[in-house]
Amino acid sequence: MQADPHIVVLGAGPAGGAVALGLRRLGYRVTVAGQARPFAAVEGVSERVLAGLRQAGFEQALAQVPEPSPREVTWSGQTSGANTERLLRRVELDRAIGIELQAQGVTLLDGRVRSSRTCGNGYRVEVQGEQGGDVQVLQADFLVEARGRAAPGAGLERLRGPETVSLLQAWQGPERAPMSAVQSFGDGWAWMAATEGGLRYLQLTLDVASANLPPKEQLTEYCVTRLSSLARAAPFMAGASPVGTPHARTSTPILCREPVGDNWIRVGDAAMAVDPLSGNGIFQSLSSALQAPAVINTLLRHPQRRAQARAFHQARVEHLFYRFARIGRDFYAMEQHSAGNSFWQARRAWPDSVEVHQSVTPGQVSIERRAVLNGDLIDEAEVVVTPDQPLGIWHLNGVALAPLLRAWREAPDASAGQAALARALGERGAQAPQLLQWMRQSGWV
Ligand code: FAD
Repeated sequence: MQADPHIVVLGAGPAGGAVALGLRRLGYRVTVAGQARPFAAVEGVSERVLAGLRQAGFEQALAQVPEPSPREVTWSGQTSGANTERLLRRVELDRAIGIELQAQGVTLLDGRVRSSRTCGNGYRVEVQGEQGGDVQVLQADFLVEARGRAAPGAGLERLRGPETVSLLQAWQGPERAPMSAVQSFGDGWAWMAATEGGLRYLQLTLDVASANLPPKEQLTEYCVTRLSSLARAAPFMAGASPVGTPHARTSTPILCREPVGDNWIRVGDAAMAVDPLSGNGIFQSLSSALQAPAVINTLLRHPQRRAQARAFHQARVEHLFYRFARIGRDFYAMEQHSAGNSFWQARRAWPDSVEVHQSVTPGQVSIERRAVLNGDLIDEAEVVVTPDQPLGIWHLNGVALAPLLRAWREAPDASAGQAALARALGERGAQAPQLLQWMRQSGWV
């Protein structure tokens, strides 16, 4: 590997942007090649997306995030209005990410990635400038695939959930306070959002096979008819009209079984894309992106630890995917009115029947060596593995847990165990009772 490797990131969404900023902070030469999304969308995000944007260093993007607005949910005939979410205009978020990248020394190429091929030990990437502009050729030592759901997947082993499509239509109406709503119905669910300037986004999510969608020119009428039957859609449609034609987005959950190699990595939706029901897509894409700089740094600088770096990324991508797929499954299972419809039947049984949170008994808790994130690198360390934490826990508030569990287990009785814990904690020995209580509550001892 070169002394000053060139890393090329394909795609300038939240995931590509977060990786690029992280790599810049580690001193790498980074070029991002991306074109703007071809459609406008609003997406609802929770507070943890804000935390992720902050962690990634997206100061400009954070300034685009509006205050939380009320969110009403009507699911299985029951309405609750206790929630809020922040309604993020994606065009503005993505633009702010681009500005941030350039401000922090990342080279940003505005254009469509036409191809990326292996070339020698690296890659040759062709980027077509906007509106059929010149083609630029980039040589990359390391490639980050962050083109979201548009990332090519040919030849990759991928797990796909029930095939799902979302129809997104913009509407314009009189100014009203920002708000959003979700409603389930016979063969799908709808998400509706009203933002400043009287703009609204109404989205229907349906099963690809059973939706029987009409030709494109009749899609607006189709959406209007379906939305008109939903009580929660009425306040969004009142006095408003559709703008342009609906945009059909694939929203099938997809997991890439092998998201990393020795000189490439997939992050964000390109690694795993979740059902939009979770409302966690941006959070998940940032999660896989925030860990990627350390993985890449290890692959480039410590090739002897390649296996651990790859195992780390793969395990975390897969874990996150299944966790949110199971949370989604349980939410789908809560719909009782239309439970017999194939839309709900397929989704409440996928991906499996494993519970989201598993109870833990001491006999199921083990100490194992696993790949861990240690500063800017992936390392290997002893961690505590449980059915609920299959990736293992290394530290709690800076305290390594495996030595504590071992000390407790090797002690002949409880009082010797407490003393052993205090000894193992050294200067923080006074925390032994609290840690013991925490281990008991977690089912470890
Ligand atoms: P993206 O944001 O998709 O970024 C990829 C970038 O690569 C884009 O800018 C794209 O234009 C660019 N690109 C693609 N191909 C090329 C190419 N050939 N050349 C150059 N550039 C290219 N998440 C939420 O948190 N809340 C929601 O409410 C929500 N609603 C959703 C509704 C639907 C219907 C869907 C499908 C998803 C939703 N999501 C939501 C998920 C969210 O959009 C994604 O998880 C998130 O944007 C992924 O970020 P990313 O950076 O991985 O990919």
